[in-house]
Amino acid sequence: MSETNPKLRAELAGIPTYKPGKPAAAGGPAAYKLSSNENPYPPLPGVLESVTAAAESFNRYPDMACTGLMNELSDRFGVPLSHLATGTGSVGVAQQLIQATAGPGDEVVYAWRSFEAYPIITQISGATSVRVPLTPGDVHDLDAMADAITDRTRLVFVCNPNNPTGTVVRREELERFLDRVPADCLVVLDEAYREFIRDPEVPDGVELYRERPNVCVLRTFSKAYGLAGLRVGFAIAHEPVAAALRKTAVPFGVSQLAQEAAIASLRAEDELLGRVGSLVCERTRVVDALRAQGWTVPESQANFVWLRLGERTVDFAAACEQAGVVVRPFAGEGVRVTVGEAEANDIFLKVTEAFH
Ligand code: PMP
Repeated sequence: MSETNPKLRAELAGIPTYKPGKPAAAGGPAAYKLSSNENPYPPLPGVLESVTAAAESFNRYPDMACTGLMNELSDRFGVPLSHLATGTGSVGVAQQLIQATAGPGDEVVYAWRSFEAYPIITQISGATSVRVPLTPGDVHDLDAMADAITDRTRLVFVCNPNNPTGTVVRREELERFLDRVPADCLVVLDEAYREFIRDPEVPDGVELYRERPNVCVLRTFSKAYGLAGLRVGFAIAHEPVAAALRKTAVPFGVSQLAQEAAIASLRAEDELLGRVGSLVCERTRVVDALRAQGWTVPESQANFVWLRLGERTVDFAAACEQAGVVVRPFAGEGVRVTVGEAEANDIFLKVTEAFH
């Protein structure tokens, strides 16, 4: 890349990108998409109404400060406005966090395998990724992560539950880890799937943020709230961090549609969390069925399950696609499968039965 334009940063050379003009493979029009951890339920009528009303002002820029949404979040979580920042999905906020804290010569620590965006956004910033392998049980190795922190570490991501394994870290081990992190190192608790957690030992990151100035919580409207296509996420963090996020935000990055839909979703939270409850039941059904078929599946606290397939991964994903469900393969490792509508999950379970 720097060969064609010496002004482009060398770090960008190794970063994968989508191919312009080529839609992401979707397995044909009839396929169920279980590859992106989306919510299978369509938007609530009230949420659609709020979006339709907002559409009348398409000729205007959105409210840059996301005032209504910020106020709603402030009430909902009991945090001051100065401790909040919104962004274009939580991945957008994560990118801003790195941009605000790390650059060339700095290090960003995270577990691996984990959310695929971490290496990409770290590389974009020019900072260095320090990947700490998951335990053999596919859980964060928090002791090893604490050991990996140096005086160059600016940021640590803890993905809880972890994407793609669905595994969690519990209160005691997380507190012990946080005690070991230096005060000038920011710990980002990425809680994109928080609402799907049923394990009572998993702490709410917002409670940890209240006690610790170097903890920042990332949440999203994309999963439990079903607004993945509208791109809105947010951070709860102490003042200097939240202010840095507001400074690094793309101006007008959260559309008015997204803001209104997020507000309407927070107001319809009971109904949306009821849907989450149904998906959690489906998760239990899928995991139980897989185990009954003889698969070893880690305990998932998210809206997806992780199936280790090693060298058979790509063939398995192709068999799924053939059967009518699209899953997410990680070549040589395994597949991540979203818990979707019952019919989609049934198709997936037929493939696993045949494959075992
Ligand atoms: N964090 C994790 C762990 C995720 O899996 C995802 C989405 N796949 C995100 C953040 C980003 O979600 P969004 O940008 O849609 O809020």
